[in-house]
Amino acid sequence: MKFLTHALILTIAVLLSACSSQLKRSPSTPETATSATNPEALTIQYLGVGGHLISYQGSQLLTAPSFTNPHLLRTGPWMPLSADIEKIDRYMPATDNVQMLLVGHAHYDHLLDVPHIAQQHTPDAVIYGSATTRNTLLPALPASRLVAMNEHMGSSTQPGRWFYSADRRIRIMGLESGHAPHLMGLKFMSGSHEQPLKSLPWHAFGWKEGQTLAFLIDFLDSDEQPVHRIYYQDAASQAPAGLVPPLEDGKNIDVAILCPASFSQVEQYPESVVANTQARHYILGHWEDFFANDLEGKQRFVRLTDEDEFIERLEAALPANSDWVLPGLFSTHRFEPET
Ligand SMILES: [Zn+2]
Ligand SMILES: [Zn+2]
Repeated sequence: MKFLTHALILTIAVLLSACSSQLKRSPSTPETATSATNPEALTIQYLGVGGHLISYQGSQLLTAPSFTNPHLLRTGPWMPLSADIEKIDRYMPATDNVQMLLVGHAHYDHLLDVPHIAQQHTPDAVIYGSATTRNTLLPALPASRLVAMNEHMGSSTQPGRWFYSADRRIRIMGLESGHAPHLMGLKFMSGSHEQPLKSLPWHAFGWKEGQTLAFLIDFLDSDEQPVHRIYYQDAASQAPAGLVPPLEDGKNIDVAILCPASFSQVEQYPESVVANTQARHYILGHWEDFFANDLEGKQRFVRLTDEDEFIERLEAALPANSDWVLPGLFSTHRFEPET
């Protein structure tokens, strides 16, 4: 039976390996991001897959990026897989001020590169994710840097606990979310790690999903009042999972980061999250086909995902005066505070 399952997975993998599609729109790559002078502006640099580097007045937060991006055929069960250190070091931007590193779920395309990034590129960052994320990373990182959010996350009806950065200019709240199936209602690499691992997983199927989270991220002024509020998720979620509860603090969501990958495998996505977040700006994350992609080349849209349908449905659901952007790889977008 196990053999049959793996044979099926391999067959699907071979099928999938030929079907990413040519991008229909040019991703946005503004060149003026650093020339604007408003010191109150927020910048978000897209690093690919779930990775965004978010900066405000010298305080930085990173959501887990992925640079290794192996070929699909190397992501099957029992195929040795490890982080490409040289590639991470080549493409990782300067992240010396990163204080918080958020992980939405523990699949290899979100976590494989995190041990090296946390050790070498963000030595001061505390990592926030699920208990599975913590248990997966414990062989590589000290327990003091790994926070399991399962007991602290909010839901669509209940706020969770705010966690503050060391300089108290950033705070984050985990929210119970979910992960769309990959295709035909099937989800790979599900399950969790209930105990700390003894060593990092050596093949893709060892990186188990765990509890999937969305996050609210607030960048704060010197009085600890929110200036920019960001919603982040790294997997398409089935509502009510992934929705933000009423906070009643008068602060709207400024930027919401959505996930086109596998969106058609859940119902009412992105409509449910757009209706719930009512953000001024939407960013499409996790949109490019990341299997063995050339990080300096043209990107293709994530396979088995209809770019036109996602964007048509997003535009139909968009609140008045909202906009959206498909960010080019490594491009930086600037967002002014709400006036
Ligand atoms: Zn995933
Ligand atoms: Zn993913």
